[in-house]
Amino acid sequence: MSKALSAAPVLLIHGGAGAIARGEASAEREAAIRKDLRRSLEEGWAVLIEGGSALDAVERAVRVMEDSPCFNAGHGAALTSEGTIEHDAAIMNGRDRAAGAVSGTTRIRNPVSAARAVMELTPHVHLTGAGAEQFARQEGLPLAPPWYFFTPERLAALERVQAAKKRRTTATERDRHGTVGAVARDRAGGLAAATSTGGYANKMPGRVGDSPIIGAGTFADNRTVAFSGTGHGEIFMRLVLGHRLSCRIELEGLDLAEASRRVLDDLGAFGGTGGFIAVDHRGEIALPFNTPGMYRGIAREGHIAVAIFGDETLST
Ligand code: ASP
Repeated sequence: MSKALSAAPVLLIHGGAGAIARGEASAEREAAIRKDLRRSLEEGWAVLIEGGSALDAVERAVRVMEDSPCFNAGHGAALTSEGTIEHDAAIMNGRDRAAGAVSGTTRIRNPVSAARAVMELTPHVHLTGAGAEQFARQEGLPLAPPWYFFTPERLAALERVQAAKKRRTTATERDRHGTVGAVARDRAGGLAAATSTGGYANKMPGRVGDSPIIGAGTFADNRTVAFSGTGHGEIFMRLVLGHRLSCRIELEGLDLAEASRRVLDDLGAFGGTGGFIAVDHRGEIALPFNTPGMYRGIAREGHIAVAIFGDETLST
């Protein structure tokens, strides 16, 4: 799960955790997912090898996945019970623990960049709904018409979830989870994390998940760890999971591998499913999940790899 990477830059990404089974998606869809994961890694990695900051790298990597229809963020986000789309996103800089977030936005093309603008251009950490949209418009961030974000796959997922609800059966996890995220460590040892999501299919309008909640779905502190989560957001929020991982390192003195195991157990003990990606101040990495699969990838010197299923590894 974890490897020593002394003073080397590294980028990890995820595109959501869930009941992702072999053969479930068509070969074309699986190829498209792998291609876009790889593109996200390549673009984020290009930032890091050019000497860019972890913050720039995670924003870039997440933007690529927001623009892809394959993931539950930006274009291709999950639909609410009303068939609308409400995005949440956050970004955090481990250097000074500056953070920015937006939630419930419907027109901002790249919510992660809006989150960064909140961090850098306002005295606030989190803008929501109409205020976030007005701010994005004022700052000249690209907006898109609502139809741009919709994909037939997400509409079908909403219909399946709503049909399962009517039958009083549980929807498959595949239709519920998603979310994209990135964590990075740059050449200077700086850490950063970013997460972006549409939440999950059939969420109530107005529901905000863990992704834009600093400490829950997104967290970075150069002294400990950068974290981006995916899964059952309500549990991530109740356990403040990203900050919990940081505390297990800072206050309990655990290494990342052990701290990650315990935090994943904490999630499971509360009935939470999902996973996270994390890189610590020493360059150790972790990508644990308690679901059958998690879309994930790593870029580091001489190595870019992606994986989907639980039995796949990311090693060279
Ligand atoms: N954590 C996200 C949320 O609850 C969903 C997911 O990652 O699947 O909004």
